[in-house]
Amino acid sequence: MIELANASQKRAEVNVRQIGRTAEGRTIDWYTIEQVQNGAWREEEIAQDISGLSRPITVYRSSRKTNLIVYDWHGDKQTFCPPMWWDLAIGSGACGLGCRACFLMLTHRIKRDPSRHLLYDNLDDFLHVSEKWLLHPSRRRQHTLGVGIDRSDSLLYEGVVPHVRNLAPLFSDSIRNPNGNKLILLTKTANTHFLADILPTHRAKIVASFSLNPESIADLWEGKWPDTGERITHPISQRLEAVKYAQDLGFEARVRVDPILTPENWEEQYASFIADVKNIGINFRYWTLGTYRDSVEYGSMLFISAFCCSWISFVTRKLEEYR
Ligand code: SF4
Repeated sequence: MIELANASQKRAEVNVRQIGRTAEGRTIDWYTIEQVQNGAWREEEIAQDISGLSRPITVYRSSRKTNLIVYDWHGDKQTFCPPMWWDLAIGSGACGLGCRACFLMLTHRIKRDPSRHLLYDNLDDFLHVSEKWLLHPSRRRQHTLGVGIDRSDSLLYEGVVPHVRNLAPLFSDSIRNPNGNKLILLTKTANTHFLADILPTHRAKIVASFSLNPESIADLWEGKWPDTGERITHPISQRLEAVKYAQDLGFEARVRVDPILTPENWEEQYASFIADVKNIGINFRYWTLGTYRDSVEYGSMLFISAFCCSWISFVTRKLEEYR
């Protein structure tokens, strides 16, 4: 017995020493630390009155040299997903809102800190590359450019890096945007007050999309501060008010309900969410539905995709009822 206890104690000691270290014995965050030490990245605290969150958050800042617009994985000619989505890589690594199983948490392995977004600060380069993107001979009217919709949040950092307000005059200019391409935002924040700074004549080509779910589903999915368990994102009711504000400013509003989760009584929760949307007077131009995707459990992904068919008919019915 004593021997066993000693053996497990020894294992525990070894584990404690090795937690957070690579095979070579370096701390798991050696790469991010090295970037700060060699001056390539700098740490910056963002106050809550700028991010709109309930406490300050820390990010890394740097400048992005290449691939300012990303396109890979955004559809191709062989699949159902048309290749028309481009995205400005305004940041990288998980955005800081801490969603469970966010695909960005481990996308870059040790090269990003899942709790500290890497936010790029060379705004003029992003503006310049967007100008060139709009005028490219292959550009078609249906092509869209996102503002960090794939690897960041379009409005969480708008108080620090005002990409949306910088780009609005460009997208509204018929000479510089001859095809009338749209700029797509996607946010889990309630930061639509930034959109009020955009001139009314510069709003038509901007689409404000909101990542929303019923409150109880958001609670299951969206991140929480580790010490208190309080959710990092705002309550859904506040986010719906922010949607209405954007809509009243004249922006086209869309919603993305993703991931769909189906705990007990999910039908009532989604029905009540759709009723709230209608009662507030929001008219989302598009509803995009996404199933829970798990890159490891491919089998469960198939199951959920099949299950989703019944979900789609349910939500379609509910939307019809409230129309
Ligand atoms: S909002 Fe998107 S990028 Fe940010 S943590 Fe959640 S899933 Fe990841």
